[in-house]
Amino acid sequence: MDLPNVETYLTPHNLENITNWGEGWVWLAGGTWLFSEPQPHLKVLVDIQDLGWSEIIVEDDYLIIGATCPLIKLLEYPWLSEWTAAEGFKSAIAALAASFKVINMATVGGNICLALSVGTLAPMMVALEAIYEIWNLNGESRRVAAKNFQLGHCQTILKTGEILRRVLIPISNLKWQVNYQRFSVTASEPALAIVVGVRNQQQISCVIGASVVAPCLVEVANDEFLETGLINVLEGVSFIEDARASAIYRREVTAVLMREMLQELKI
Ligand SMILES: Cc1cc2nc3c(=O)[nH]c(=O)nc-3n(C[C@H](O)[C@H](O)[C@H](O)COP(=O)(O)OP(=O)(O)OC[C@H]3O[C@@H](n4cnc5c(N)ncnc54)[C@H](O)[C@@H]3O)c2cc1C
Repeated sequence: MDLPNVETYLTPHNLENITNWGEGWVWLAGGTWLFSEPQPHLKVLVDIQDLGWSEIIVEDDYLIIGATCPLIKLLEYPWLSEWTAAEGFKSAIAALAASFKVINMATVGGNICLALSVGTLAPMMVALEAIYEIWNLNGESRRVAAKNFQLGHCQTILKTGEILRRVLIPISNLKWQVNYQRFSVTASEPALAIVVGVRNQQQISCVIGASVVAPCLVEVANDEFLETGLINVLEGVSFIEDARASAIYRREVTAVLMREMLQELKI
């Protein structure tokens, strides 16, 4: 789709070349979202594909995923067999399988920063206790926990001109058992509910997505009342109520997905 009011298209090789960020400026990654709607408020597109940020590397104790890494690369990456959490990423991306083009073009950073309530990667990142590295145009960087990044539907903590540079996942967490559950009325429709369950030695964590505006981490003691504990927590969660489904329906579907997740993780 044409973006009618865009006057300038920049392709920096280095962020230092961007000095005068202003109103109507936007980072352009894969463009799969930006070019899907008219975006009349946009004047300047800053294409980040030439920054060379598409890496997937192991550094220190982290798996590091560059912001412009296309989603397809997560499917093709030679995950080590002991990194059991990789299955969760594959399921999360397969959930977008209705659009082959999106998976090839869309980036990890674009998916996270767009911050749709139905976002497929964010619940996985929260479940694995990922850390987001954010840069600004003064050459400074900060790190935030994935669980603190998304504030609502299409709302994040990013300030004007800030950019997600990369995602760091502790290698030890990749060895956790992960189960990704998603429900939508038809396969090509956005999810009504997502549940990501994680089991490590100490605890069970569960992240709810799609039925709430931003990923919601639920942690309960791993004891004989685990299932009841998790389901009870849902009473206090604020679920989305809209034309697609009521809040009560979303809560019930989330509870069903939670039970399936617990079964899959053999808890
Ligand atoms: C019809 C349709 C249905 C969709 N349904 C789903 C769905 O059900 N689940 C789901 O997860 N996704 C869904 N998507 C979203 C799809 O996954 C996104 O289009 C994609 O993830 C965005 O990635 P991109 O790289 O193309 O980002 P772009 O389209 O280039 O950018 C998206 C937004 O993110 C910002 N951005 C991108 N990279 C960065 C960065 N590194 N730092 C800061 N800001 C950045 C951009 O400025 C822009 O605001 C859907 C998209 C479409 C068009």
